[in-house]
Amino acid sequence: MMSMEAEAIPLAGALPRRSRQGLVAWGDKRVTVGGSAPVRVQSMTNTDTADAVGTAIQIKELALAGSELVRITVNNDDAAKAVPYIREQLDRMGVSVPLIGDFHYNGHKLLTDHPACAEALSKYRINPGNVGRGDKGDRQFGQMVEIAARLDKAVRIGVNWGSLDQDLLARLMDQNAQRKQPWDARQVMYEALITSALESAAKAESIGLNGNNIFLSCKVSGVQDLIAVYQALAKRCDYALHLGLTEAGMGTKGTVASAAALAVLLQQGIGDTIRVSLTPQPGEARTQEVLIASELLQSLGLRVFVPSVTACPGCGRTTSTTFQELAKQIDDYLRASMPVWRARYPGVEGLKVAVMGCIVNGPGESKHADIGISLPGTGEAPAAPVFIDGEKALTLRGAGIATEFQQIVDNYIEKRFGSLA
Ligand code: SF4
Repeated sequence: MMSMEAEAIPLAGALPRRSRQGLVAWGDKRVTVGGSAPVRVQSMTNTDTADAVGTAIQIKELALAGSELVRITVNNDDAAKAVPYIREQLDRMGVSVPLIGDFHYNGHKLLTDHPACAEALSKYRINPGNVGRGDKGDRQFGQMVEIAARLDKAVRIGVNWGSLDQDLLARLMDQNAQRKQPWDARQVMYEALITSALESAAKAESIGLNGNNIFLSCKVSGVQDLIAVYQALAKRCDYALHLGLTEAGMGTKGTVASAAALAVLLQQGIGDTIRVSLTPQPGEARTQEVLIASELLQSLGLRVFVPSVTACPGCGRTTSTTFQELAKQIDDYLRASMPVWRARYPGVEGLKVAVMGCIVNGPGESKHADIGISLPGTGEAPAAPVFIDGEKALTLRGAGIATEFQQIVDNYIEKRFGSLA
C-alpha cells in the first residue's frame, strides 16, 4: 500500500508560445500572428493567379472553410496585375482574409513594376534560397524588403530545403570539414536552413522592417527533420514561426505525416501559424488542407472551430451500420450549419456530441458529452437512451431515431446558445 499521498498529475495542455506578435493588415482589418494570438490556420491556392475570378472564388472557399490567411503565387506580370482585382473582388464579396504573395526569383521586379500588387498584398513570402546569388541576391532581397518596410507589410522568410541557398550550404560544409568531429550531413543541412532564415531576418531588420512583422519558416519534408529544425529555431529566436511539413504528400500519408510533425511542435509551444501542404487527390477539394489544419488545432485543444462528435469505432457488438450513419449524419449536419450558427449561437463551436455503438461505453461516453446517444448493439433491446448534460433524458425507438436525435440537438442548441447572440 502507498504510504504517501500521490502527486497530482499535471493538467494536460500545450506549453505556452514565446514568440512576438506581428500583424498582417489590409485596409482597416488585421490578423494577429504570434504571441498571445491563437495559432492561425493558413492555406494556399492552386489556381492560376492570372485568373482573377477563379482565384478569388477559391480564396473565398478556403476562407469559408476556416483559412485565416491565404497565400497566392505571384510568378509573372499577369499574376501581379491580377492581384489588386482579386483583393477587390474579395472585398466586394465580404471575404475578410489577408492575401500573401508567394515570390520566387523575380519578386523584386514584380513588386517594383506593379505597385498596386505590392499594395494589395498584406504579406510577402520571400525565399532567400532563390532571390539570386551573391551581391545580386542581396540587392534583390533588399529591394523586396524595402518595399515591405515602406508599405508596412509583413514578410515571411520562408526557407525550404528543396531550394536552400547553395552558397550558404557550401560555406557551412567547408566549415564542417574543418571540425575535428564533423557533423552528419543532415545536421549541416539543419544548420543551413536556420542560418539562412536568421541571417535573412537580421538583414531585413537592418533595412528597416519591423521585426515583429517578420515570420520565419524552415520547411523540410521529413517529420523527424522538421521537429529537429523547429526545436532549434525556436531556441534561437522569438520571431513568430510558420509551421508546415513541406510536400507532405496526399491522402492518409500527407495527413498523418503533417499531424505527427505539427502536433509534437505545437505541444511544445512552437508554431504560430500552420499550413498543411496536402497534395489534393483527384477530385478532392483544396479546402481539405484547411479542414485538417483546423482539426489538428482543435484536437490539441488549441482552438475550437466546430462542435465535436465523439463516436466509437464499432466492433462485433454492433454489426449494423446504423450508428456509423448516425455519427456521420450528425457530424455533417453540425459542420454544414456552422457558417450560420457561428453568428446565431455564440459558443456553439464548443458543443460536444457523442454517438456510441452499444451499452459497453455508450452511456458513459454519452454522459461526458453535452448530448449523447447510445445506440443498441447486437442483441440489445432496440432502444437508444439519450443523455443531456450528463443525465438520461429520454429513450428513442424505431426507424426515426436519426431525425429525432437531430431535432433534440437543434432544440438543445437553441435553448443553450440562442439567448447569447
Ligand atoms: S461502445 Fe460498444 S460498439 Fe462501440 S466499440 Fe465499444 S464495445 Fe464496440
